[in-house]
Amino acid sequence: AESELMRTQRFESLAMLAGGISHDLRNLLQPLLLAGDSLLDYRDDPRLARLGSLIRDCGRRGLDMVQSMLSLARGAPRTEEIRLGELFAALQLLLQGSVPKSVQLSTRIDPPELSFEGNYTELQQCLLNLSLNAIQAMPDGGELKISTGREYLDVDFIRAGEAVREGHFLRLTVTDTGTGMSAEVLRRLYEPFFTTKAEGTGLGLLSCQRIVASHGGMIRVQSQSGLGTRFDLYFPLNSCPAEPVPQAEMVASRQGR
Ligand code: ADP
Repeated sequence: AESELMRTQRFESLAMLAGGISHDLRNLLQPLLLAGDSLLDYRDDPRLARLGSLIRDCGRRGLDMVQSMLSLARGAPRTEEIRLGELFAALQLLLQGSVPKSVQLSTRIDPPELSFEGNYTELQQCLLNLSLNAIQAMPDGGELKISTGREYLDVDFIRAGEAVREGHFLRLTVTDTGTGMSAEVLRRLYEPFFTTKAEGTGLGLLSCQRIVASHGGMIRVQSQSGLGTRFDLYFPLNSCPAEPVPQAEMVASRQGR
């Protein structure tokens, strides 16, 4: 198996690459945004104004993505108070065009006023990656459940070797009733560029893992071939944000709950 050190080194070079690309992209996007803004001045020509707002919106989204790539490369996310209700509402908008009719989406926030100190864009990115994976795992339709809540995790749950401390966690869960995963896929989930899809990047789960780790949290996966998959992301809720945990990943389990 790949050692912790090798994995870290591989990520470091990936992060450096991403950091370099992000920097150049940002320099490209900024003038584009300015151009979009100046098109908005032509109010009497609705076509130009529409183009202006399109350029500006895409540019902003691009800059956001670049920002999150840069912070992924730096591993030091800016944090803010995130209201989970807001995060879920925005996620549903983002997913709107991607959930086929055959997939039934449900969300649950318990308690509804739940909030969490973390990086909004990064958490959004995690949920989006997991949800899109879930949808892609259900070509014949099924159920996609996205939920969040507080959970107390004890030592029994946090297995030996985990650097994460016992305590209260924010749990983000994405469950699907799709294809599930083989033991081999489960083992290789976080390998850079590992994908079973023709058009996959193999970076989605790696990026989730880094985001969760930089918040001091961990991921648990449960999957059964033919039945579906459940991803639980756990973020510590303790008052002072702990030092980012170098690697915090739960052992993949093959049983459903
Ligand atoms: P990508 O989606 O680009 O392939 P990811 O890192 O997100 O990259 O996922 C890696 C692989 O893990 C996928 O190609 C797929 O085989 C598997 N996988 C991830 N999520 C699921 C899921 N919910 N159900 C089944 N397989 C999954």
